[in-house]
Amino acid sequence: MARRGRESANPSLLNSGAQYTGSRPKLLHRRNHGAAAGLRHRRLRRTPQVPRPAVREGALEPGKSARRGACPRLILANSTRALVVTKQLQTWTILATLIAAMASSAVAAPVDDAAMRSRIERVLSATPVIDGHNDLPAALRHDFPDQLWTMDLSGAAASPITKLQTDIARLKKGHVGGQFWSVWIPGSMTGAEAVKATLEQIDIARGFTERYPQTFAMAGSAADIEQIQKSGRIASLLGVEGGHQMGSSISVLRQYYGLGVRYMTLTHTSNNELADSATDNPVHKGLTPFGRAVVEEMNRLGMLVDVSHVSPDSMRQAIALSRAPVIFSHSGARAVCEHPRNVPDDVLKLVAERDGIVMVNFYSGYVSNDFNRWSADLAAETARYNSPPYDGIYIGQPDLAAAALARWKAAHPKPVVTTAQVADHIEHIVKVAGIDHVGMGSDFDGIDGEAPEGLQSVADFPNLFVELARRGWSDDMLAQLAGRNLLRVMRKTEAVAADLKSVPLGNPSVADLTK
Ligand SMILES: [Zn+2]
Repeated sequence: MARRGRESANPSLLNSGAQYTGSRPKLLHRRNHGAAAGLRHRRLRRTPQVPRPAVREGALEPGKSARRGACPRLILANSTRALVVTKQLQTWTILATLIAAMASSAVAAPVDDAAMRSRIERVLSATPVIDGHNDLPAALRHDFPDQLWTMDLSGAAASPITKLQTDIARLKKGHVGGQFWSVWIPGSMTGAEAVKATLEQIDIARGFTERYPQTFAMAGSAADIEQIQKSGRIASLLGVEGGHQMGSSISVLRQYYGLGVRYMTLTHTSNNELADSATDNPVHKGLTPFGRAVVEEMNRLGMLVDVSHVSPDSMRQAIALSRAPVIFSHSGARAVCEHPRNVPDDVLKLVAERDGIVMVNFYSGYVSNDFNRWSADLAAETARYNSPPYDGIYIGQPDLAAAALARWKAAHPKPVVTTAQVADHIEHIVKVAGIDHVGMGSDFDGIDGEAPEGLQSVADFPNLFVELARRGWSDDMLAQLAGRNLLRVMRKTEAVAADLKSVPLGNPSVADLTK
């Protein structure tokens, strides 16, 4: 979950401690851009660089060289040189025009698009997408609270589910064969209240998995995922998105594992008793003693240690401590988009050393610096106009505040974010960590619809693979990204758990560990 009142959009919701109703800020309008910007991006990337001729200044203008009093031989030499250079320039211009024409005709009729698409269909049919993060359970709670256990997920045209980013028809179209359903609850909930709300979210995800046995089946291992995929179905796995959901009890964590939870993110958007978050002021300087005990227990259980959302110090310490490879269930590359939620290059190298994986998030604010900046400005403007109970230029006058915000938006259009930019994150991770350490972590239905054009829903995964194939990726590389890397990380985690089977159970409390 990237937003939905969770990460940055509305801190008051996170801190209110109010009863969990799945509240989230007003949805930002989704933009339905065409493919034009993506095409522009590709065109920019593909336009060949024509080397400039080495022309000295002034040589093109003989009059400048024929200065009064200059030696006639020099004038002649300069004129001859000017002629030669002019001819060279003409040649360059013709060449550049030819190359540009070839490039633009390549864009106008891209490499047999139908052939490329059928290649991707073949790759993803053999190795379906295993996505690291989808917030459908929280979206259902927010948008359809009266139908939590009955909602029609088929994706039939008339179904209200189609306003979300996930339904069965689109999962199939997107070649999804494994999905970690996030069972997120707000970070403001702790203790018994957090455990109850988490169990309800687990019940929602398990509920729809059981209601559609032809489509879904619960998976507990890499072998289960492969078997379910072979039967043509989608493997359901669960991810707890924050250590606050344990209710301070390692015993509760073990029971989550029993219910199908296969990863836990150590923090959400705030520091907690396990570790510092990337989006909070550092307090613990990484993991706490309790957090370290939790990582050890996760290794013992065979639960993936997820370090999305945590501070860079927490990332480094968890990677060093964990005996199993760690995952980033939904994060991007910080060198590409400077958001603290993204993974710095030194950490990417550590991920590779310990054989982990970064599953790339599609949320526009983590993909694009421009969008991230625009989003922060929008939040600031919104607060400036109307932030009850004390502040705001138009405090208590919502109509004036709304009109002022509309004027600001008209003057500051939302930056366009493209599928190609997500591919840039993936390629950066491959460049720094290697092809074995990248995967998919879309965050669909946790991002208020703010996804790049071409990646608007779970149906659109193939578009990203087409983009990478156009950049020269082989079928093997695409298959690794789709799911093979995640399966390897799960198998290693399971092997570590098997080695640790003889470690006795414990349930140390936060207090015990901070004595
Ligand atoms: Zn998240």
